[in-house]
Amino acid sequence: MASSTIVDIDLKGLLPKIASGKVRDLFAVDDNTLLFVASDRISAYDVVMKNGIPGKGALLTAMSIYWFKYLEAKIPGLKTHFLNRSLPENVEASVDQNLSKTLRERSMQVRRLQIVPIESIVRGYITGSAWSEYQKSGTVNGIALPSGLVEGQQLPKPLWTPSTKAEAGAKDENISPENARDIIGDETVAKEIERLSLEIYATAADRAEEVGIILADTKFEFGLDVARGNQVVLVDEVLTPDSSRFWSKETWEAHLGKQQPSFDKQFLRDWLVAQGLKGKNDVVVTDEIVEQTAVKYREAYELLTGGKLQPVA
Ligand code: ATP
Ligand code: MG
Repeated sequence: MASSTIVDIDLKGLLPKIASGKVRDLFAVDDNTLLFVASDRISAYDVVMKNGIPGKGALLTAMSIYWFKYLEAKIPGLKTHFLNRSLPENVEASVDQNLSKTLRERSMQVRRLQIVPIESIVRGYITGSAWSEYQKSGTVNGIALPSGLVEGQQLPKPLWTPSTKAEAGAKDENISPENARDIIGDETVAKEIERLSLEIYATAADRAEEVGIILADTKFEFGLDVARGNQVVLVDEVLTPDSSRFWSKETWEAHLGKQQPSFDKQFLRDWLVAQGLKGKNDVVVTDEIVEQTAVKYREAYELLTGGKLQPVA
């Protein structure tokens, strides 16, 4: 399995690469369409590890698609960037079977949109950077909260807590909703992003709850379809362990006031800290941590979608 871990996406120059993020590579299919390819790369504390997690890219892609379909069915009028998961014909025609399979399991074609330059975060529970701010000032993203909250506690209601979308290598900063509205610029668009973010969070949190998972917080990105009068479209990956904190409902209460075990990179983060490797470049993760992380991602996928990851046809 480990031999099929893909950290570099090589499309043999068949499509122009327009961007490469920590996890995904984006290729232009045409003016309106992108091939959105999730590698097996993993990042922690904003740094990408040297080796990847086998199966992660396929899993993130399948999970995002599961949610795009689920959310489109549940939320009237919600638009997403997902188009289909086939490969463009010229790519399919030119690559061998192996590469074709590798690409198909981790790719989707999406609408190419103008990305709104904020990270649209929603929090239902207080943890992470929100907890740090609250301890200092009693606020989260500048929003005043009741005193006496405990780490991991549910917030009185879910909050829209946006952050900046920093350039590669830089750190995103939490900002107030007002500040985010200013960055977005258009008031109608800003309102719509806040409304949709809260509605998507609520819809997904309900689904997660059914299977014993708490959606503590999550991050969305939105794009604008300028040709369609600035239609607001949900883009990027959605509701994956990379973009969300998933906690177990069963163990939540016992962990109030301390760190919650979560279905994501916790093993990796703990290991990095213990080894003094937090924030260091070129880290090679041990097989054991790779395997534990892969298991956690699979568990989250299987619980939330209710099925095992199927190989692509
Ligand atoms: P970033 O902080 O910019 O998200 P990242 O390292 O998280 O960087 P990845 O998640 O690996 O990046 O790559 C995804 C990139 O693709 C993001 O920059 C995201 O804004 C962009 N993106 C997502 N959907 C679309 C879309 N439909 N059209 C154009 N760009 C998109
Ligand atoms: Mg991203």
